[in-house]
Amino acid sequence: MTDILGHIGSVITVAKAVSELSDRFEKSDLIEKIAELNIQLATAKNDNARLINENRELKANAERENIDPLHWTGSIYRNSADHPFCPACFDDRHKRIHLSTNAIPGCGESFTCRVCRNHFDDSEQH
Ligand SMILES: [Zn+2]
Repeated sequence: MTDILGHIGSVITVAKAVSELSDRFEKSDLIEKIAELNIQLATAKNDNARLINENRELKANAERENIDPLHWTGSIYRNSADHPFCPACFDDRHKRIHLSTNAIPGCGESFTCRVCRNHFDDSEQH
């Protein structure tokens, strides 16, 4: 958020400089300042789009977490339906990634994350 405020502050500063230059300087100076403004605005627009996406993702995650919270088994996360989720992806990026099961009869379960490629064992009985 401070990035965007910084960019907007820069745009305002450059806009003020442009209005002052218009009285005193050449057209080429104005064109240069306007190009500077365009760059600042494009950067602010990109940052804003990134933050909107990030915010949308965080809201969706928070909503999912309210509806179906994950619980820690000691080695992985599981939801209320007992589906396994990757602890590395969840702890690091708050992503709920289903784990693929590599069943080992009688020896608990082993899982693989298709995103981070980590392997996990879960000996908790279900
Ligand atoms: Zn993962």
